[in-house]
Amino acid sequence: MAKKGSLTINSENIFPIIKKWLYSDHDIFYRELVSNGCDAITKLKKLELMGEWQKPEDMEYKIEVITDSKEKTITFTDNGLGMTMDEVDEYINQIAFSGAQDFLEKYKDKANEDQIIGHFGLGFYSAFMVADRVTIDTLSYKDGAAPVHWESDGGTEYEMEEGDKKEFGTVIKLYLNEDSLEFCNEYRAREVLEKYCSFMPVAIYLSSAGAEPQYETIEKDELTDKDTVIETIVEEAKTEEKENDKGEKEVVEVSPAKEKYKILKRPVPLNDIHPLWNKHPNECTEEDYKNFYRKVFHDYREPLFWIHLNMDYPFNLKGILYFPKLNLNYDSLEGTIKLYNNQVFIADNIKEVIPEFLMLLKGVIDCPDLPLNVSRSALQNDGFVKKISDYITKKVADKLTGMFKTDRENYEKYWDDINPFIKFGCLKDEKFAEKMNDFLIFKNLEGKYLTLADCLEENKEKHENTVFYITDEKEQSQYINMFRQEKLDAVYLTQNIDSPFISYLEQKNENVKFLSISSDLSDTFKEEVSEEDKEAMKADVDALTQLFRKALKNENLDVKVEKLKNQNLSSMITVSEENRRMQEMMKMYSTPGMDMSMFGAGGETLVLNYNNKLVQHVLHHTEDENTLKICQQLYDLAALSHGTLTPERMTVFIARSNELMGLLTGEEKEA
Ligand code: ADP
Ligand code: MG
Repeated sequence: MAKKGSLTINSENIFPIIKKWLYSDHDIFYRELVSNGCDAITKLKKLELMGEWQKPEDMEYKIEVITDSKEKTITFTDNGLGMTMDEVDEYINQIAFSGAQDFLEKYKDKANEDQIIGHFGLGFYSAFMVADRVTIDTLSYKDGAAPVHWESDGGTEYEMEEGDKKEFGTVIKLYLNEDSLEFCNEYRAREVLEKYCSFMPVAIYLSSAGAEPQYETIEKDELTDKDTVIETIVEEAKTEEKENDKGEKEVVEVSPAKEKYKILKRPVPLNDIHPLWNKHPNECTEEDYKNFYRKVFHDYREPLFWIHLNMDYPFNLKGILYFPKLNLNYDSLEGTIKLYNNQVFIADNIKEVIPEFLMLLKGVIDCPDLPLNVSRSALQNDGFVKKISDYITKKVADKLTGMFKTDRENYEKYWDDINPFIKFGCLKDEKFAEKMNDFLIFKNLEGKYLTLADCLEENKEKHENTVFYITDEKEQSQYINMFRQEKLDAVYLTQNIDSPFISYLEQKNENVKFLSISSDLSDTFKEEVSEEDKEAMKADVDALTQLFRKALKNENLDVKVEKLKNQNLSSMITVSEENRRMQEMMKMYSTPGMDMSMFGAGGETLVLNYNNKLVQHVLHHTEDENTLKICQQLYDLAALSHGTLTPERMTVFIARSNELMGLLTGEEKEA
């Protein structure tokens, strides 16, 4: 007699909610049903360990998933502990009361918190997202238990009666609805299973009903009693005719006769039941780590280095974090941190658990203690989660500082790749910043890597408490050359993140100033000018200023006249540090296509070298017909060595250059 009944506890409410809830992640039912099988097997293994149950010899604990696209079904079979009728009643029919009720109460009106349903004891019911009808056939491992058949059409009714299952374990069969047929395609099934189940602790085999059988050939001594022999292949002995010492022909055997077997291809589990993160770091080789990285992240570049997290107390957390090889600006970096709960994949990049800056890394974290049965917003305020996040941050900082102290060579080697990450971390996470503070290094003009302290110490005499920096090696090559000639030092800070990072450093180190290499001309480049000389130059300075303002048709042009030691330098442009930073900021907030000149090329100063012949020439020939052109040319040249010209200015510059060269040849005048 079949027992009929209604599923208790708000089941009228639950189905619509489950369906809506999981709308964006329909594939999650695979995870739930497979992990239920895993749980059932894990429980049985425990009973075996405790001596309460004896495993049949040669039985392999496993989960089989069979897709059938003709029948439109998916079957999940496990050889776990199974259920008695009472247990089905309790665990399935009553929808694990508390779980369901909690679930309803807390999340009635929230959407998109889709990763956590499995943790409410509702995982089984996710089957109804994709199936119109679900059957369970189960037999408990307990002596004398009767098999149970259960089925439901996904409304609120079920039927339960004695079944005919002969072996302990559970078979769950889903009859897919028309919208979900993709899931009985074997390739799709494999994709989903690989996403969620790649590291589950029980072997999972996927196959599709009605698929062509596949074969393989093995040697005689490889045969096991589990193999199904299709055909015995007898290979005859191979012989060759050879000449012996006496010069006679002889037939010799080169390989003996042997038997081989054609067998049904042995199934291979799709998962790895012993993920690398569960092993002790001492047992893992460099190759293991690299292979694991390749397999999980499909990144064929080698990671730079990694951190194996392995913690039992005060909470349980294991994982591996990789520093990937990237040499991009930080804002285009994108890592992946995969979060697992007892080897069951939960989601990528859960920002409530993993500090934001660590998302630039790639890695796996398995935290069985994670309270995932609360919402994400609750996670954020959870003290425990904060501890996890702090622990990970500390481990990363320890790894980096340890490397600095004991393996400085590699630390420097990796610096160009990892510095955006470290800087981002310093900006985002105070604790991390504190730990890293003394281990930030700067590459200088000689290509040496110095800490800030070393950098300040080395330049104490020439520019105390000032660090000159290069933002663009090409655009600033002129200034770099000048620095080199005068044996001044500067450091490379060329990434996008460096601009906020410099401000951060200045805040941290109050009396230290960072100046762009093109922000001002240091006194080192100038001749000393006495007060009297200055007085004497004043009229010339005014004349030059007027002349250039006129030539460039810009009444507000800032002009400075200096006596530079290097007489060959005629003109330069400097941009004050404040203005440079302002422009930098504007650039960050501007939208594509925005006219940057809107913000003005403000703060630009044209520096003329009083010691240069051309400058002296225009000064003494203000009325010559070519003087204005020379002034314009000097200005453009200065601008060029400070960066690039706008297309319009470049066109004018080229035309004028041609014209001026014409003057050299005298052709122009004759024409
Ligand atoms: P949870 O796994 O969180 O407990 P589920 O809805 O996924 O919630 O499953 C409810 C219960 O049904 C399980 O706790 C277990 O007792 C039982 N169950 C589900 N699937 C199986 C299975 N394959 N074998 C044995 N018991 C199962
Ligand atoms: Mg479950």
